[in-house]
Amino acid sequence: MNIKNRLLKLMTKNQDIRFYYADVTDISKESCFPEMKTDAAKELYQKIFTICCLMRGFLEQEDQRIKIFVQYERKECYVNCNIDGEGRVHCLFSEELASFDGDISSLTGTGAYLSLTKISRMEGKVTGTIALSSHSFEQCLSDYYRQSEQTETIFIVYVNSGRVQGCMIQPLPFALREAVKAVENSVAFYRETIGEALLSFCDVVEEYTLSTDCKCRKEMFAGALLSLETEELRKSAENSGEELVCGICGKKYLFTAKEIETIIKVKEQYE
Ligand SMILES: [Zn+2]
Repeated sequence: MNIKNRLLKLMTKNQDIRFYYADVTDISKESCFPEMKTDAAKELYQKIFTICCLMRGFLEQEDQRIKIFVQYERKECYVNCNIDGEGRVHCLFSEELASFDGDISSLTGTGAYLSLTKISRMEGKVTGTIALSSHSFEQCLSDYYRQSEQTETIFIVYVNSGRVQGCMIQPLPFALREAVKAVENSVAFYRETIGEALLSFCDVVEEYTLSTDCKCRKEMFAGALLSLETEELRKSAENSGEELVCGICGKKYLFTAKEIETIIKVKEQYE
């Protein structure tokens, strides 16, 4: 079975525990991971990106989205994540965080928090926030789901010799404690070979595609420029143009002075 760039939804044979599993080794290379400058930032990125890929499993409709914002103790260290119902996953680290060199556990502290927003056409926007007190991102999200949704969700990420895998475990309400413990033990036992092991004690229920594509296009940013004051546009035309950055994928769009002048002209036609 080809499990590359896929999120698998699995169920234990006696249907009491739900699993989501993803091997994100390849897809993480297409993400912002290569832009991480330190080992600490790389480790944190792999963890957060993998968990976001797993969270795609929460999205049942194509128009649903999850946005996660993580603010660490230092104001300049933060993460923006977007996961959509079509399987697009993006994690954007602030520049400071991408070059953070130190102990990851020192990032949390006073004022650190995680906020999660669910967006859908039917239910609108729902945001919940939790203080980042625990040192691990996976523990934080587990706490979040226990507090805000009263559901037990366990996140596990394994990185070994370049292979990045993650697993999200959701015991159903009627699952016996011993069964959950046994499953957790076997996940811990198999560790790096968890992908293969899961297929032996679970059945695949569904498969989802994962991708790092973004819907952003240069013309969308031209629209944003159109809404600026002409005076401001003139200034940036004089300063050799304007660089705009997509807030979801981090892609940079450069508008040259000449392009800005064209935008000013278009704007003047409507004024
Ligand atoms: Zn984008």
